[in-house]
Amino acid sequence: MQFIDLNIQQKRIRAKIEKRIQMVLDHGQYIMGPEVKSLETVLSQYVGVKHGLACASGTDALLLALMAYDVRPGDVILTTPFTFMATAEVIALLQATPVFVDIDPATFNMDPEQLRKAIKALETHDAGIHPLPQILNRRLFPHPRGIIPVDLFGLPADYESINALAKEYDLFVIEDAAQSFGAESLSGKACSLAHIGCTSFFPAKPLGAYGDGGMCFTDNTELQEKMLSLRVHGQGRNKYENLCIGINGRLDTLQAAILLEKFEIFPDELQKRRKVAHRYNELLKEGNAPLTLPKLPPGVLSAWAQYSVLARSSHERSSIQEKLRKAEIPTAIYYPTPLHLQPAYGFLGYSKGDFPVSEACADRIFSLPMHPYLTEDEQRKIASVICDEP
Ligand SMILES: *Cc1c(COP(=O)(O)O)cnc(C)c1O
Repeated sequence: MQFIDLNIQQKRIRAKIEKRIQMVLDHGQYIMGPEVKSLETVLSQYVGVKHGLACASGTDALLLALMAYDVRPGDVILTTPFTFMATAEVIALLQATPVFVDIDPATFNMDPEQLRKAIKALETHDAGIHPLPQILNRRLFPHPRGIIPVDLFGLPADYESINALAKEYDLFVIEDAAQSFGAESLSGKACSLAHIGCTSFFPAKPLGAYGDGGMCFTDNTELQEKMLSLRVHGQGRNKYENLCIGINGRLDTLQAAILLEKFEIFPDELQKRRKVAHRYNELLKEGNAPLTLPKLPPGVLSAWAQYSVLARSSHERSSIQEKLRKAEIPTAIYYPTPLHLQPAYGFLGYSKGDFPVSEACADRIFSLPMHPYLTEDEQRKIASVICDEP
């Protein structure tokens, strides 16, 4: 059994993928070929926003979004510590300061109440209200510029509350939708829930390429034009006019061609993922698994990038993972160390205990195999290994 089985999907569409690749080899436009534009059009329509901007990775999508807002050294951006490295990395790369905000243990996403406290702490220069990075000069607490909430494991964050706070304090919101392409909330599809939505086409994501890729989505034409330029070295009206410092952040035509084909079966695969998640919930509940199972807020549909559960303790997590490993069932831990405790973010000067919910989840969380082609038999086996007394 594989944790994420990409081979079954490849077998399903191999011939069509080969045809798409052949078309690119025939026209030879490897950089910014027609497939790139087609993909931007098709995916932005699906998401329900005006513009899509294909780029080289989910990380570049986040970087381009921050650069479009002209984020500068010293700027403060609020985000969650319970996420993949890249979310806060792009902030630090621009020499801005990530200010972490703890999560809601029920969704693993940014807790809007904690967000309000963090903004208050910055506004009143009072780290007693909410832990702030040591490196912020206490006399020069800047007004924050923006927020990057993450739709962790495919579940959209609480944008209703977050966007309301953003409006109140005049902040931009960039949705890290790297794991949530295809998800839905009451106000729309993932990638459309903030000023800019950023997704990833890393092979293991819900819509994955055969290499790296990403996309920015926005309704804001001015931001889109800025990102178009930033994607190609700050390019102006022609190749040899450069308006600003940018990056080489294009998506390969070959990856766009592969994604166009994969998108054909994406809605079906999404349905299958939802069925798999539902079945896990039923089987684990029936078997009285000693786990906290994922529960969606009303009106929200996850893209189920991962099926993540909480064990009752770190010790119990280890023993469940060990039982599964012996039965040749792979599991994974996302994320064993919250970002504020990672050496890479040591320069911020956070301490253990600053974000207790993230730290407790990191100690107890693990993920079960999840992909559209997981069979009922496989899931029954997984559930019985978890639920059977040793
Ligand atoms: C995967 C991921 C990214 C980065 O995407 P890449 O395409 O690997 O650069 C960013 N944020 C989150 C939450 C992710 O899961």
